[in-house]
Amino acid sequence: MRVSQIGEFGLIDRLRKFQNLTSRIVKGIGDDAAVLKHNAQRYQLVTTDMLVEGGHFLRSMPAEKIGRKALACSISDIAAMGGLPTAAVVSLGIPEDLDIAFVERMYAGMLRVARIFGVSLVGGDTVRSKKITINVALLGEVEKTRLVCRDGAKVGDVIFVSGPLGGSLKSGRHLTFTPRVKEARFLVEHFKPTAMMDISDGLVGDLGHILKASGVGAALERGKIPVNRGVTFRQALTEGEDFELLFTLAKPVARKLIARFPRKFHAIGQILSRSSGLRLMNNDGKTGLLNLKAFAHF
Ligand SMILES: [Mg+2]
Repeated sequence: MRVSQIGEFGLIDRLRKFQNLTSRIVKGIGDDAAVLKHNAQRYQLVTTDMLVEGGHFLRSMPAEKIGRKALACSISDIAAMGGLPTAAVVSLGIPEDLDIAFVERMYAGMLRVARIFGVSLVGGDTVRSKKITINVALLGEVEKTRLVCRDGAKVGDVIFVSGPLGGSLKSGRHLTFTPRVKEARFLVEHFKPTAMMDISDGLVGDLGHILKASGVGAALERGKIPVNRGVTFRQALTEGEDFELLFTLAKPVARKLIARFPRKFHAIGQILSRSSGLRLMNNDGKTGLLNLKAFAHF
């Protein structure tokens, strides 16, 4: 069997058996970052992201932005756990003929975003490769009481996103997005989300991860999902790299958030029991099953 037959998530599922968890590990594979015991008050978070030329960026794109994105993706994952990023190691695969200025510009882009979010760049590795490859491994910290994982969504919770969705690749936003650290910290400090993640693979797919981890179903309300300008509803549901936060709040808390920030955070649906699956309520109030594959045929 080849990787293409089981896909990225099929492969991750198979690799799960190679995890060697110990009592030091609070959470391994299956969330935005792994969670390790650290000290009496805090957990350590660790996440990694790899960008490969051709798949995630092109050499013709500005090198600063490629570097920026490589680190910002990981910062977004730390934010999605409720944490603050601390230090990163950066590994590069570089073709021999690549201009050194390109590499330095990539690092300048990384350093700029690192400074904004309080990340120290502390090392890494470089190897020769055919395609430019950037891997960032990022550490973060979160207070034990403020950790948010994907597995805490409860029936009746309200589902939120932190901003409009879709069109990230076409618009170039995938290179320039702001990781939602400030928003995530605000939420974990004042509103205690029951589950949270960042939208990297598309709303429907990513919500699917929360539903699976939490053992629940959900209904999204078509008219409430914020869509970027020039983007179809289907694109908003399925396109990735928005890097907005997707989170759930208990209903009373959700009401408070909506009252205080009616425009910043968007309530887009509700958590249902697992047997409901993932549903979409259309503007006429009718609800149907929302299957990503089925949906893709429209
Ligand atoms: Mg993520």
